Amino acid sequence: MKMSNMLISTLREVPAEAEIDSHKLMLRAGMIRKMAAGVYNYMPLGLRVLKKIEDIVREEMNATGAQEFLASAMIPAELWQESGRWDAYGAEMFRLKDRGERDFCLGPTHEEVFTDIARNEIKSYKQLPLNLYQIQTKYRDERRPRFGVMRSREFVMKDAYSFDKDQQGLDFVYDKMHDAYVKIFNRCGLDAKCVAADSGAIGGSNSAEFMVKSEVGEDDVVFCTECDYAANIEKASSPAEKEEKQELMEIEKIATPNSRGIEEVSAFLNVSSIKTVKTLLYKVDEKIIAVFVRGDREVNEVKVANAVDASGDMEMASHEEYINAAGCDIGFAGPVGIKADIVLVDEEVKNMYNFISGANETGYHLKNVNYGRDFEGIVGDFRKVVEGQKCPVCGGIVTIARGTEVGHIFKLGTKYSEAMNANFIDEDGKEKPFIMGCYGIGVTRTMASIIEQHHDENGIIWPLSVAPYHVSVIPVNIKDEEQVEVAKNIYEDLVNMGIEVLLDDRNERAGVKFKDSELMGIPMRVTVGKKIGDGEIEFKLRNGEMEVMKIKDVCNIIKTEFDKNNIKLK
Ligand code: ATP
Ligand code: MG
Repeated sequence: MKMSNMLISTLREVPAEAEIDSHKLMLRAGMIRKMAAGVYNYMPLGLRVLKKIEDIVREEMNATGAQEFLASAMIPAELWQESGRWDAYGAEMFRLKDRGERDFCLGPTHEEVFTDIARNEIKSYKQLPLNLYQIQTKYRDERRPRFGVMRSREFVMKDAYSFDKDQQGLDFVYDKMHDAYVKIFNRCGLDAKCVAADSGAIGGSNSAEFMVKSEVGEDDVVFCTECDYAANIEKASSPAEKEEKQELMEIEKIATPNSRGIEEVSAFLNVSSIKTVKTLLYKVDEKIIAVFVRGDREVNEVKVANAVDASGDMEMASHEEYINAAGCDIGFAGPVGIKADIVLVDEEVKNMYNFISGANETGYHLKNVNYGRDFEGIVGDFRKVVEGQKCPVCGGIVTIARGTEVGHIFKLGTKYSEAMNANFIDEDGKEKPFIMGCYGIGVTRTMASIIEQHHDENGIIWPLSVAPYHVSVIPVNIKDEEQVEVAKNIYEDLVNMGIEVLLDDRNERAGVKFKDSELMGIPMRVTVGKKIGDGEIEFKLRNGEMEVMKIKDVCNIIKTEFDKNNIKLK
């Protein structure tokens, strides 16, 4: 492409609205432009990158035997009412009415649509297994759209939905999707880690997220420093600590008139918070849940919600509900005699001896409380992992890092097929619900994440596999006919080899051209200047040193870069 014919929208200044590097650079390099909060236009250069990522996704999905599909983004409300998500989805869903007052939404995701397709098209087990995917625009009215296309309100997602006759089939396709995702992110030059994720009430290893470590990430991920263990903080566990066995002492009530909560009580009594137990009261689905964890721990609310099979939102108990359950003012609740519908006891609490907790009486705490003797409950893991704890797999030390989710694989089971009556006839002649899985990749978020991992102070450094163009050829002096001629020849030779080349034939200073090429992240640059008198040009990798070389060698050198990166030329 000749740059004199292109819309070039590079900006020298850093746009004030952008907080993170990828957002700044996408605007500065002229990849995207904002139309409204979380709504972006893709400029020609940005679109080329997007299409390359889509092509990588498409190739790897096709290689697994999945079939491409394209569903409408506009979805009738009835499908969502069948699954129960028309109401549950809440304000994140963009809703609209047609002229006949019929409700529709702009799809935030497509489980309902694909379940509907399957129930209409698939009658028999003979048609299974099936994995359908699409690369399509999604709409979510995010509470806080930010960071450009990282969290936008309109974005491109690859979403796949698998249909199997049994669990074995689902396990098989789930693993296949996992492997395909590893290949996809590798090919995109993205360092993404597969992380065990929370999968709601279904539990187990039914869901995994592909996360990229990033300071601007909105999720916390627990990583082991010694083995491969990685888990979303919501799911992460660490071995429960155990106190050495002690003789059970008699329970004692102590006045703690001005000490509410664990910090004040342990300071007042001059004991470590690891000798205390704290109480949290929640309300969900009209039930009061009491949770007990060691004084220095935090409650993991996702684990609690899963343990009680919560269907609605979980909230802290109100002041009144607290008083009803504990019979005292806030800060003095404890496990002995608490009136809750469900009592959850963290396993570390079970492992403690003679601890301190609230007495369920205003102004008092209890000493020498023991699980089993003084109270009981459902024992489990209800605490948050913190940095420095032990890895549940190898016993090494874990760290916590921020991350961004770029992909998600999920075993749905029969959640949607049962709700929507999507059945097939199995070999035994019986009607059964499809066993489903769903698999998403945020394509536009992937693009931004690649930039987060590949840039410097001068601009983007695209991996060759997704670069908008591979090479820019820059004649230094556009008025020098010989330079222009040599540049044109190199350009044409490269184009004939199937390489995507920018010829910067603009009447601009060389410095401007270099800056633009670096900002746009073009992986290779060929500079045609005065040295052509000696039959030489300058070659530079975007993140490498400049080399002077013979004109006749340049095509070969460029070709080797494709070989090195394992990229076939078209
Ligand atoms: P998040 O926790 O970031 O909101 P999610 O759990 O809502 O993500 P999914 O419903 O699993 O995301 O969607 C699949 C993929 O779509 C995500 O892995 C992510 O890459 C992408 N995605 C989700 N929401 C957005 C958004 N607002 N903007 C851009 N990409 C998004
Ligand atoms: Mg979300």
